[in-house]
Amino acid sequence: MTNRIYADHAATTPLMPEALEAMLPFLKENFGNPSSQHGWAKPVKRAVADARTTIAECINAAPEEIFFTSGGTEADNWVVKGSDGRLMVSAYEHHAILNAAKSEAARGRDIVYVRPKVGSGGGYVMPEKLSKSWKDGIGLVSVMTANNEIGTINPIHLLSEFAHKRGALFHTDAVQAVGHIPIDVREMGVDFLSASAHKFNGPKGIGFLYIRKGQKLRSLLDGGQQENGFRAGTENVAAIVGMATALKNNCTRMDEISAHLEELTLHLRMGIERFYDNPVFLGAGIGSQLPGFTSVSFPGHPAEGLMHMLDLKGIAVSTGAACDSRNTRVSHVLKAINATNDIAHSTIRITLGAENTIAEVNTIVSTLKQLLRGLGTITR
Ligand code: PLP
Repeated sequence: MTNRIYADHAATTPLMPEALEAMLPFLKENFGNPSSQHGWAKPVKRAVADARTTIAECINAAPEEIFFTSGGTEADNWVVKGSDGRLMVSAYEHHAILNAAKSEAARGRDIVYVRPKVGSGGGYVMPEKLSKSWKDGIGLVSVMTANNEIGTINPIHLLSEFAHKRGALFHTDAVQAVGHIPIDVREMGVDFLSASAHKFNGPKGIGFLYIRKGQKLRSLLDGGQQENGFRAGTENVAAIVGMATALKNNCTRMDEISAHLEELTLHLRMGIERFYDNPVFLGAGIGSQLPGFTSVSFPGHPAEGLMHMLDLKGIAVSTGAACDSRNTRVSHVLKAINATNDIAHSTIRITLGAENTIAEVNTIVSTLKQLLRGLGTITR
């Protein structure tokens, strides 16, 4: 199985060896509980504090503004369910936001949905969109930093400024962005920001929520006094340490990794364009999308089938259209940007990572060409 190609980094990323190394002592000899009063607590308490400082430095926050969670889903739920007032969310958020908002609606809270810009060059949420749908009493606006299906990056500083001018707080789900593009919570002007370690080569089941100093959220989990009394539960020390190590390494190498991914992405797209007449690349061009991100549609070819055929050839990608068991439902993201049914059903997401190579991209292109030719549609 050594020649399998993993090109689904938006789903999850491989654990960085340095992160694993850093975690091991906390899965073995340093197993103490950070809340204990005796000596076993000391090294683990220090490790958690150091990890908090490292993470804060990576996003220009203060350590006391970082709250560890079980991942992006918990961080998103915490913000949505712990805040007050009307809630404004974009229609193409991850389900961690949309389904949390749905639960809030079921409890009687008013939710205002905003659509991203549609059409060519679409896939972004601009302040005018918030303005058009604005209502009195909106307490929180939540718009993701980068979309997980099409990779578009939103102008968060403009959106947070708009929300603040109207007296609302601002949250961004930065799960796809943290560790991949520069994140500075002060420049972005956000009150809350969610992140998840497994998207940036850290372990699964750990993430964090940035809460700007002075802002308050109701707790989701009641219990002990961990996380300054705001998030109860014994800390997942090894995972916290692994997350901080992965984030620091990725941030240190960000320029180098981004340049590598842009080269791979350009190579991939040019390779596809050389054999296929009219591929549709969703989201805008390279530069305003996440590095390594390609969401491409081969009209007339259901993505589900293509994804499984690629899987049989050892290449892992995902579909843009999250179908139900009867294969009839179109992804809410593609619907939100007004993609036609044909485009939506034929979109695959190829997300490359730091460890991918030009040779692997060549294999992805030649395999796609072979499969699409087999389906009878290659024109060149
Ligand atoms: N938000 C976005 C944009 C995501 O892409 C994901 C994961 O796919 C999540 C939230 C959920 O994060 P986690 O898997 O850590 O719960």
